[in-house]
Amino acid sequence: MAQYDLLLRNGLVVLPDEIKQADIAVKDGKIMKIAANLQDTGKQELDADGSYIFPGMIDIHVHFNEPGNENWEGFETGSKMIAAGGGTTFFDMPLNGIPSTVTKQALLQKSKIGIQKSLVDFGLWGGLVPGHVEDLKEMADSGVIGFKAFLSDSGNPEFERADDTTLLNGMKEIAALGKVLALHSESAAITDWLKVEKEKQGARTADDYLETRPVLAEAEAVGHAIAFAKLTGCPLHFVHISSEAAIRKIEAAKQEGMDITAETCPHYLLFSHEDLTVKGAVAKCAPPLRKPEEQQKLIQLLREGKFDMIASDHSPCPYELKDPAMHNLFEAWGGISGGQFTLLSLIELAVKYDIPFTQVAKWTAENPANRFKLAEKGRIQEGKDADFAIVSLKEAYTISKDNFFAKHKESLYIGHTFPCKISMTIRRGNILYENGKIREKAERGKWLTPQDNTAVKAHTAV
Ligand code: ZN
Repeated sequence: MAQYDLLLRNGLVVLPDEIKQADIAVKDGKIMKIAANLQDTGKQELDADGSYIFPGMIDIHVHFNEPGNENWEGFETGSKMIAAGGGTTFFDMPLNGIPSTVTKQALLQKSKIGIQKSLVDFGLWGGLVPGHVEDLKEMADSGVIGFKAFLSDSGNPEFERADDTTLLNGMKEIAALGKVLALHSESAAITDWLKVEKEKQGARTADDYLETRPVLAEAEAVGHAIAFAKLTGCPLHFVHISSEAAIRKIEAAKQEGMDITAETCPHYLLFSHEDLTVKGAVAKCAPPLRKPEEQQKLIQLLREGKFDMIASDHSPCPYELKDPAMHNLFEAWGGISGGQFTLLSLIELAVKYDIPFTQVAKWTAENPANRFKLAEKGRIQEGKDADFAIVSLKEAYTISKDNFFAKHKESLYIGHTFPCKISMTIRRGNILYENGKIREKAERGKWLTPQDNTAVKAHTAV
């Protein structure tokens, strides 16, 4: 009788503090043993043949638009895309479904769809919007991973930006609930005013769009949120930070001992405003891709360890909404479709800038798991979930519509060549993706709720 369900042999295992050639033994979805030349047997044995074994990526920031807008993405295609990128867990944002996730009922409705359709494990964000501060507690008790609010217009009229009173009341409550508030930080006053100014001039080029969302707007909003967090004690997570000025403010607040984390996205590191100019709306997002000088500063900040985690902010839409015929960048839907490429992008940057792979694993797995209290996830370690991304550096990988698994195939990343390839993704011991193909029949993912959440355990039957 085989002792283990799965034995993964000859991998270069990316452990928390070192990379080691070792075998990994898995049973019942858990990592049981990590050691060189294991003499045990497995029902299934795989030869990683010198490929790197990273912990399964945890993408804390995607927009899958379900329920209601599954023609934009949906849990099924979205989760397959995550798996094809070495991801074993994602957290879905609260704003793009109908209804948006601002009540317990909406949260439970979405969780049921996810349990049915998601190939990988997932967590769900709840929203902080005007009129729903009273719903935060019920959503926390029901298992949200954290809360999200917008300081500028969200692009979705159903999900209003948080005004100052909502923000203060919400932060006070979220602090009491022991949760984290994630913030889209751009100043509504600045961005709205600049947009009106541009509209008056009929200005709508790529340069004009960039000028409506300056670094100043991001830095101002970050400073505003930090002041409110100081007053209320609310832990913050800044999503998709795109500028040095914003990071400097976050860094100063961290130095003061505030409970703050920051994320950036691969597109701010691999691409720049020049891509918006050349490729048009597929490169439109908010905050916008910055000029090459700012992009270089962000890479430098990444190398200095100023970001806690990297997430995709996968934000797709049907291509018509990118408005290709009109070439009107201001009206085109903003959002980068690229949830498959976070780990690949970071490995590309790590190879180029000599960043240790152990650091990549911290950004993509360990830090997200720690911040959002997923005790079973985040590291290749005995006792943790057997979640792995097997990465080959022997092959380059060029992105095309044929190997991009999102529902809509238009993306900023089409044509980009990575110096590495995801050869396999394993979630809790199950192979989900192998050499370009999804294992359609693999067991579905689980809804993950933060582990300190005792209330959730009581109602998992819901
Ligand atoms: Zn987003």
